[in-house]
Amino acid sequence: MKKILVTQPFLPPLDEVQPYLEQIWKNKWLTNKGPFHQELEQKLAEYLGVKHVALFSNGTLALLIALKALGIKGEVITTPYTFVATAHALLWNNLKPVFADVDPVYGNLDPNSVEKAITKKTEAILPVHVYGNPCDVNGLQEVADKYSLKIIYDAAHAFGVKVNENSIMQYGDLSVMSFHATKLFNTFEGGAIACHTDEMKNKIDHLKNFGFDGETTIIGTGINAKMNEFSAAMGLIQLKHFEDILEERTVLANTYRSLLKDVKGIRCLDSIDEVKHNYAYFPIFVNEQQYGMSRDALYEKLKEQNIFGRRYFYPLISWLATYNHLNSAKAENLPNSENLAEQVICLPIYPGLGTKVVEEIFSIIESAS
Ligand SMILES: *Cc1c(COP(=O)(O)O)cnc(C)c1O
Repeated sequence: MKKILVTQPFLPPLDEVQPYLEQIWKNKWLTNKGPFHQELEQKLAEYLGVKHVALFSNGTLALLIALKALGIKGEVITTPYTFVATAHALLWNNLKPVFADVDPVYGNLDPNSVEKAITKKTEAILPVHVYGNPCDVNGLQEVADKYSLKIIYDAAHAFGVKVNENSIMQYGDLSVMSFHATKLFNTFEGGAIACHTDEMKNKIDHLKNFGFDGETTIIGTGINAKMNEFSAAMGLIQLKHFEDILEERTVLANTYRSLLKDVKGIRCLDSIDEVKHNYAYFPIFVNEQQYGMSRDALYEKLKEQNIFGRRYFYPLISWLATYNHLNSAKAENLPNSENLAEQVICLPIYPGLGTKVVEEIFSIIESAS
């Protein structure tokens, strides 16, 4: 079989890109709130059902600025079961990460565990909608309200997801997206913050552009995190294809699930009735005893057959030298996170993969142990 990676970016037909390039060449306006940038902010706000979207050069800078814009100090409760950028964004803001555990099924931050981690210094919660499955948004909001905490969602995986018909980006104080090449909606590199007031949008816009407010006024220590016109054009084109992309991912996910449901020791994530899923990832969880083979052995076996899954999220952030000295990083504090990190493999899923390849991957998993 030809080499199959965990993901492959969606690239629109080149003839759809050409007119956008011609327009950029004509405008000679490459960045700094160009026309495509403005149009994409507007279209995304509409599509995501939020008041404002602020575009960024990548998701990590969007996370850094989200924390800055809310003026968070002290401690922030987050999850160890995520991509490193989530926790790094706290350290770059001189904030103390406090790890709480996740639920044992979907791997999202557990509100009870969050509540136990609260101290006098806690100012915010930074949960992640892992694999695009929504966090317990109501449970987390209750905890936040009770202790007057802000919530910044790392929604890097959650583009296009809805809960009870509401866009996932409507929850919390801010939601941060990534449009990196490996994410399901990509602008080569890129990111965004969804926010709910004009005032906050203004603040974020200043922070991502050095703090400039007009030609000569500079308010505060902004940074450069602006999205360029080429990326914004890519976003506009991607958006036209996005519902088709979702449909194709849904077919692939359903095929995986129906094939794998009878393989003992392999757990897939069920879809949730009130959720419109995006199937940004397709994680399986390997129970070594029941399956008769370890997760790592299956991972290697797949690689031998040219199937390159990824162990997202392994290692846990709490295991890394940068974080493992923290009290909250102790394994006994994070049993569900530890368990998921030891069991997970994300299988390939992307538009163009095709159900035939999914069937072949299933065959390997079925017969490997
Ligand atoms: C990809 C990702 C990020 C970082 O986004 P970039 O655009 O790559 O900087 C942050 N958090 C999570 C959970 C991610 O998956």
